[in-house]
Amino acid sequence: MIAERIAAVQRNITLAQARSPLAADSVKLIAVTKNHDVAAMQAALAAGIIAVGENRVQEAMQKEAVLGRTVEWHLLGHLQTNKVRQAVPLFDLIHSLDSERLAKEINRVAGNIGKRQNVLIQVNIGNEETKFGIDRQQLLPFVRLVNQMEHVQVCGLMAIAPAMADSELARPYFREMRALFEETKQALGALPAFQCLSMGMTNDYSVAIEEGATLVRVGTAIFGERQYVKGG
Ligand SMILES: *Cc1c(COP(=O)(O)O)cnc(C)c1O
Repeated sequence: MIAERIAAVQRNITLAQARSPLAADSVKLIAVTKNHDVAAMQAALAAGIIAVGENRVQEAMQKEAVLGRTVEWHLLGHLQTNKVRQAVPLFDLIHSLDSERLAKEINRVAGNIGKRQNVLIQVNIGNEETKFGIDRQQLLPFVRLVNQMEHVQVCGLMAIAPAMADSELARPYFREMRALFEETKQALGALPAFQCLSMGMTNDYSVAIEEGATLVRVGTAIFGERQYVKGG
C-alpha cells in the first residue's frame, strides 16, 4: 500500500517536471512521517524513500533511536530555541529557520559539536499571522546575517502556501517564492550551497514542482490521514 502510494507520487513528480520548463531537473521527495510509526517509516524506506520529515524533535529522536542514520532527517516544523541542543545533532536539514535568536542558538550549538548545520529560511509567503517565517521584505538582510554565521549553512528557502480549496490558487505563492529564491541567489553572489526551494505538500506538490520546487514534503498522499492522539 505505502509502496504503491510512493510510486504514484513519484509518477506525479515526473509528470509535473515534464509539464513545466520552470521545473527543477531533480526534485527530492521528503516523506513526512510525523504522527506515523516506525513500521510505516520502514515500509517507506523499503520502497525507496531516502529522506523523512518530522515536525517535533522529541518524536524524531525516538524514531532515530530505532532507524539510525539510514535515512536523511529533515525538520519541517517550528523549532523552539530550547530544543536546538537536541535538534542539531539529529537533523541533516532544518527547513524552518525563522528568527535571529534561533539562528544564533543553532550556530552556537553546531559550533560546540563541530558541525555546520544546513538550514533553509522559512518565508511567510502568505503573510499569515498564524504562520511562522520571515516576511519577504526582511528576507535579504536576514539571509545575509545568517550567512555570516560560521556554523550555519544557508541552503535555500522554504514556504508553506496558504491552504486553498484548489491547488491552482496556490500557484501565485509558489511563483513568488521562486522569484524570491532567484533574487536572493543573485544578491548573494557565488554561494554554491544555496540550491534548495522547499515547497509543496500533498494538496499542491504538483503545482509547486511546476513552479520550481526542488524539495517537496508529502505526508498524507503516502501514509494516509494522520491520527492525532490527545497529548501526542
Ligand atoms: C505536515 C507537513 C507537511 C505534510 O503535509 P501533507 O499535507 O500531509 O502532505 C509538509 N510540510 C510541513 C511543514 C508540514 O508541517
